[in-house]
Amino acid sequence: MKVIGKNNAIFYFDVQNKPRASVKLNEEFWVKTNDCYFGQIQSKDDLRPNIDDTLKNAATGPIFVEGVQPGDFICIEILDIQLNSYGVMITSPGHGILGDLITEPDTKIIPIKKNKAIFSDKIHLTVEPMIGVIGVSSISRIRSTFPGDHGGNMDVKDIKSGSKVYFTANVEGAGVAVGDLHACMADGEISGSGIEIAGRVKLRVSKVQGFNVNVPIVETEKELMVIASEENLEKAIRKGVILACKLLQEFLDINFPDAYRLVSISCDVKICQVVNPLVTIRVCVPKSLLKFK
Ligand code: CA
Ligand code: ZN
Repeated sequence: MKVIGKNNAIFYFDVQNKPRASVKLNEEFWVKTNDCYFGQIQSKDDLRPNIDDTLKNAATGPIFVEGVQPGDFICIEILDIQLNSYGVMITSPGHGILGDLITEPDTKIIPIKKNKAIFSDKIHLTVEPMIGVIGVSSISRIRSTFPGDHGGNMDVKDIKSGSKVYFTANVEGAGVAVGDLHACMADGEISGSGIEIAGRVKLRVSKVQGFNVNVPIVETEKELMVIASEENLEKAIRKGVILACKLLQEFLDINFPDAYRLVSISCDVKICQVVNPLVTIRVCVPKSLLKFK
C-alpha cells in the first residue's frame, strides 16, 4: 500500500501548490503526519515561546486524486489512525481561553501506551484519535492554522476512524492534505490544543454526488454534520444553520420554516473549537431524519 511521507509538508492550502503524491480513486493509502508543532517540542524543556510559529499545523500533501475535476464532490474515508508513542501539550501566556491566567510557559509530554494517554501516574485517559487538519486546495491561499470552507484546521473531534469527510474540489486532483492528529481532544479545544501527536492515517477517496452546500460535511454512523467556521460563534452558528436548513429542504422537499423548525428540534449544534484564528461549529443532522443510507 502506498505510504505518503511527512516530508511532503505544506503550511498553506493553495491551488498553486504542486501535488507531492498521487492516488487513484478508491485506492487505500497511508499518509504520515507531523504533529502540529512540526516536531519542535521533544521534551519538557522545549517551551512555546521558543518555537517557530510559522511551522505550526503542517499538513501532508497535496495529494492528487486521479479523475477528480474542479467542482467534483469527494468523500475522504478515514479508515484508520495510528499514533506515535507520545504526544505533547503546552500551556503558555495568552494561549487558549484562559491564557491570561497562565503566568509562565509549561510543556507536558504525554506517553501513549496500549491506547491510554498517560497524563500522570494516576490519570490515564483512553485515546480517541482524531484529525485536526484535513482539507483540499483552496482557491485563495489560506494558512494551515485556519479552518474554512476548504477544511483546514477545523479540529472536529468526529473526524476519526470510521468517519467520512466530504469536500468540493477546487482544482483538478483536489489536492487533499491532512495533519495535526490528536490522541484526545474535547469540544472547544479550550487550552489551545489537544494531545498533539505525530502518526499516520489510512484514507480512501471516492467521487460522490454531493450535498450542494459549499462547506465540509462530516459523516459519522448516525449523523451528517455541517461544519461552519467564522470569526465568532454567533456567525458560525448562523452559517451552519442556514446550510443545515438547505440540506434538510433538499433531502425532504420541505419549506424553509419547516426546515428551521426541524433544526431546532432534532439537530444538535456543537462547538468544535474556539481557539483557532476562526472558530468552528457543527450542526448535526440525524441521518435517520434524512433517510440517508
Ligand atoms: Ca488544530
Ligand atoms: Zn492540533
